[in-house]
Amino acid sequence: MLRAFPMQGRWETGAGEPLPSVDPATGETIVVIGTPDASEVDAAIRHADRVRVSSGWSTLEPHRRAARLHAIASAIEQRIDHFARQQMLDNGKAWKECKAQAASAVATFRYFAAVCETAAGDLNPPRGRYLSLTVREPYGVVAAITPWNSPLTMEAQKVAPALAAGNAVVLKPSELTPLCALALAEACESAGLPPGLLTVLPGTGSSVGSALLTHPLVRMLSFTGGTATGRALAVVAAQRLLPIALELGGKSPQIVFDDADLDAAEKGVLDGIFEGMGQSCVAGSRLFVQRGVHDELVQRLVRRASSLRVGPPQAEDTDLGPLVSHAHREHVERHVRGALDEGGAIATGGRRPEGETWARGAYYLPTIITGLDNRARACRQEIFGPVLCVIPFDDEREVIAQANDSDYGLACGIWTSDFPRAWRIAAAIQAGTVWINTYKQLSIAAPFGGYKDSGLGREKGPGGLELYRQSKSIYLATPDEH
Ligand code: NAD
Repeated sequence: MLRAFPMQGRWETGAGEPLPSVDPATGETIVVIGTPDASEVDAAIRHADRVRVSSGWSTLEPHRRAARLHAIASAIEQRIDHFARQQMLDNGKAWKECKAQAASAVATFRYFAAVCETAAGDLNPPRGRYLSLTVREPYGVVAAITPWNSPLTMEAQKVAPALAAGNAVVLKPSELTPLCALALAEACESAGLPPGLLTVLPGTGSSVGSALLTHPLVRMLSFTGGTATGRALAVVAAQRLLPIALELGGKSPQIVFDDADLDAAEKGVLDGIFEGMGQSCVAGSRLFVQRGVHDELVQRLVRRASSLRVGPPQAEDTDLGPLVSHAHREHVERHVRGALDEGGAIATGGRRPEGETWARGAYYLPTIITGLDNRARACRQEIFGPVLCVIPFDDEREVIAQANDSDYGLACGIWTSDFPRAWRIAAAIQAGTVWINTYKQLSIAAPFGGYKDSGLGREKGPGGLELYRQSKSIYLATPDEH
């Protein structure tokens, strides 16, 4: 039986190609989901636009929209285990990480409820006999396209601010992970969001995704995914003059100096790359270590990485589940083979775990590679798997140049007890997020996005709402008294 999805205010199974959702821990199909065909995508977008107007959502006072967002947050919170489970089944991430991400989705809706309720317009300084105000209005229908690695986080991060801004949202989740978006639609419905304000259209990028991008009633696109896909979408968006936000890939450096607290650095580097099996846009996949502590840190990391428990994601003691799919594991394996061809050496991992427990899932061991330099393909291309490349360095100037010598610019970690040096490097690094003596510390209250090929625009923070609004300046004449 096909699983339905919410379109035109109803749950339908659609006339498009059905989409199997596969559990990467077992290789088994969990459920087959219906998808819309081209005419249904068109009808769904038109319906979303009508509901936006007929429900009064776009013009509702912000505090009333905020109340609805709070209700959605509570609805997610009541089903928190269900949400975490949908992501765990779909992308294989370990249960504890899925639980934490479900909690972050709740916090995201609450945060944007607060931003929505408190965001003010501007009273501009007068330059004549008039009052000049700038107000912010929604675009209309916003399309959101998301990747598979963290659907719980990514989808909340787009849907919450886009709704808060007064838009209707049409969400296309990754074809690999459609379940969280369906759970979100159920939560929105039970929280009393007018049906049709959040439409979820499962399907592939080439069918549903491109139909969204080219539909005349879609007035803004918010995309998270790979850089090649983002670039292709930006070309089409440019033709349409469609505002577009792009959160793209990364190849983030971690820099450890001789004077760093090595215990803290060891943990930060390890979690920074291996959490989520390296399937994180901010994974710290290039590790630069100052020569004086290079061998010791590598030894420590090898010991810790080889003791991480890889196994079924639902098991309490599992640190790392499988990769998202068997095809993605082959992609990771190709990169590791390529690294060896370029002269790299495996310090740990570099293979699948062996045994009955791991036989059917897309498992892979946390892998550390030494002996490469920053020009190697494994240090330039996003592997998006549990693969850390370690590169020694001698001085500050050299490591800044190497860290910045990348097409990407998403994040960077700096480990040192010399704070003036940490600030100097933070200023010199070309990346949207810099962490000093910590890593992957993410707050919904801080803007997030990429330099260079890592993206365009910033999600989160108060400005996360502005992504989904356009400004209008109004002048009101205030003639002299007669
Ligand atoms: P992807 O680019 O393959 O797919 C992302 C989404 O785009 C999917 O929903 C896909 O169906 C859709 N898509 C693909 N082709 C399309 C087309 N022609 N038209 C419209 N939609 C299309 O990325 P992925 O493999 O799902 O995700 C991994 C990537 O996402 C990595 O590069 C990772 O770094 C990036 N990512 C970035 C961030 C960030 O915030 N910067 C966060 C998470 C993931």
